[in-house]
Amino acid sequence: MNPELRSKYEVVIGIECHVQLATKSKLFCACDNDSRDAEPNTHVCPICFGMPGTLPVLNKRAVELALRMGLALNAEYPDNLHTKFDRKNYFYPDSPKGYQITQFDEPIVPGGFVEFPLDGELKRVGVTRAHLEGDAGKLTHPDNKDYSLVDLNRAETPLLEIVSEPDMRSSAEAKAYAKELFNLARYAAVSDANLYYGNMRFDVNVSVMEKGSKTFGTRSETKNLNSFQSIEKSIEYETRRQIVAIENGERIRQETRGWNEAKGETYSMRSKEDADEYRYFPEPDLPPLVITRAMVEVQRNELGLLPADLRAELTAAGLPVAEAQVLVADPDAAIFWHHVVSLDPEQARFAFTWLIGDRVKLADTTATTITASALDPAALVGAGQMLAGGKLSSSNAKALLADLWLASADPLVRATELGLLQQSDTGELGKIVDEVIAANPQAVADYKAGNARAFGALVGQSMKATQGKGNPPVINQLLKERLG
Ligand SMILES: [Zn+2]
Repeated sequence: MNPELRSKYEVVIGIECHVQLATKSKLFCACDNDSRDAEPNTHVCPICFGMPGTLPVLNKRAVELALRMGLALNAEYPDNLHTKFDRKNYFYPDSPKGYQITQFDEPIVPGGFVEFPLDGELKRVGVTRAHLEGDAGKLTHPDNKDYSLVDLNRAETPLLEIVSEPDMRSSAEAKAYAKELFNLARYAAVSDANLYYGNMRFDVNVSVMEKGSKTFGTRSETKNLNSFQSIEKSIEYETRRQIVAIENGERIRQETRGWNEAKGETYSMRSKEDADEYRYFPEPDLPPLVITRAMVEVQRNELGLLPADLRAELTAAGLPVAEAQVLVADPDAAIFWHHVVSLDPEQARFAFTWLIGDRVKLADTTATTITASALDPAALVGAGQMLAGGKLSSSNAKALLADLWLASADPLVRATELGLLQQSDTGELGKIVDEVIAANPQAVADYKAGNARAFGALVGQSMKATQGKGNPPVINQLLKERLG
């Protein structure tokens, strides 16, 4: 698109994110919530099948996890929050009840905000609300057949739908917001957050308006995006499509669109319904729910470190925010780093570098996560201290950590056993250096005559005499002192 034309317009983005909560059973029945790769219609019962005469029973764990995510979203709870469930009425084959149980005007998360760094700035996106609802089933449309198949394994799995304010103004900002929600869901441990299995799905609302306008344009909603890249690309596409349409004098229709990954295009699915078309009314089969202060505080205590806490620690340790985000995106490693730093703040940078570098390779080659490995934060501290104290070369520090990854041991004892310790004692190394100088008069003469290479040869001889265990900077220093 012509950049001049593009610059006339501003894009306005809001995101609805469905997070599948990591409960054992579904939202209103005892069926297994995890039906990944299961045969169709094997995780169903009369309740999630929507049989007449059945009654839903609210899953307590889903309420707890929703509250915990609410706190991660900076929600503020009053002493007693009145919340209730509502029926959203629509007919679609993936929902045999003819309605969805959701929350309309009294959601379990009454608002909040999400903050994340982008291009050296701290961005804040408002959260309008988040509500609990049961998922629909899944339709498949076999090729060359005149029928569709319904699988209700996913029906009534618990979702928390997080609705943002239309606060985002670029695809990059929308992508960063989605990534931060993904981080938050994993740090708060409310979801498996597996994008491949659709544990988090994003609906993206996009409209454009002329720069400086106060009135938002008509928006389209692109549904069911499950990768950060598709969020970014679909917004770029929608922005261009809407600008071109407006420039051609067309009116933008309020509609629901799908995303064709292969073509990199959105396509029209249906005109978007307004809320009043769903005939919401309070769910008669579920009593209202009062969220007490005590219920909220239990979840606050369960909530561990959050990405913002880690970013603050990483920044305080002098690590650049952009790089720090790499570690923050990896909760297990980030929390490991936090433990290392609470044992010895001096190891912050060494631990950071190792965790985002060699640790990733080790995890790959051994197919073991850091949590499942034998390494503990104290061992990483031990290796870092030996490196800083000159007892280990940096390559031997890596070798030691690779060993401790497989079997836990005291770092010093293990480094000794493996013969990894480096000799830094100036007294002992001094004797060796003296011997090397005495045994190599020609190299000494060459060096004194200005041949820098001869100095390297003397260092090499000294290292050899220590069987490779001498500390090279110390040997360098000792030779320089003696040769003047
Ligand atoms: Zn069921």
